[in-house]
Amino acid sequence: MAGSGKFFVGGNWKCNGTKESITKLVSDLNNAKIEEDVDVVVAPPFIYIEQVLNSLTPRIEVSAQNAWVGKGGAFTGEISAEQLNDIGCKWVILGHSERRHILGEASEFIGKKCSYAVSKDLKVIACVGEKLEEREAGKTFDVVFEQLKAFADEVPGLPNVVIAYEPVWAIGTGKVATPEQAQEVHAAIRKWLKDNVSAEAASRTRIIYGGSVNGSNSSELAKKEDIDGFLVGGASLKGPEFAIIVNSVT
Ligand code: PGA
Repeated sequence: MAGSGKFFVGGNWKCNGTKESITKLVSDLNNAKIEEDVDVVVAPPFIYIEQVLNSLTPRIEVSAQNAWVGKGGAFTGEISAEQLNDIGCKWVILGHSERRHILGEASEFIGKKCSYAVSKDLKVIACVGEKLEEREAGKTFDVVFEQLKAFADEVPGLPNVVIAYEPVWAIGTGKVATPEQAQEVHAAIRKWLKDNVSAEAASRTRIIYGGSVNGSNSSELAKKEDIDGFLVGGASLKGPEFAIIVNSVT
């Protein structure tokens, strides 16, 4: 843990859940023992955000999984930052690899989304990460730095941004990065922030790891100096396992 502030664990529920399963997950989270020194945020699908806001302990904050790039209006199917403000949702995930690679969102567009979200007082989980072929071609840092630059160009100083390093090959595959692989990229991201944003941003910004994190591998990853938390997909749908991950820093 090198970023200042608390360890941070996000649960990305993606396009999963029903009213019923989310009621159960919220109840499991409300009953879980969560260490004090961790910020915890969960990201339900848009349609369940209010249900979660109305039933989840305020100890855990709520995030959207995406937001529109600007002010709302004639943008069918989109949700704006103002609407997230309206219902009391304080966070948004932007640049998730599923949106980059399945929905075709480009880095520049994602950077603009981040700028608009921050301007509307949303806190952002900004995702970056390379594909397997990019890693194998020795391009991991080039790809990650290009994605980081798009955020930093649009959001001077990167206030209210948590950076999630999520190698695409590790997401949903059960193939977690080793603690050493993750640490290497996290340290490089921190140095990039120092060289390209500011020393203050490098020491303040939390850099969290995502990609097949579970209750068995989280504590080894959490020991690494530059791993300041996690973004958890599949394992965040199981309340007790998510609680183990949340508490893995202690
Ligand atoms: P996973 O997903 O934990 O299921 O690999 C992580 C993510 O996509 O944020």
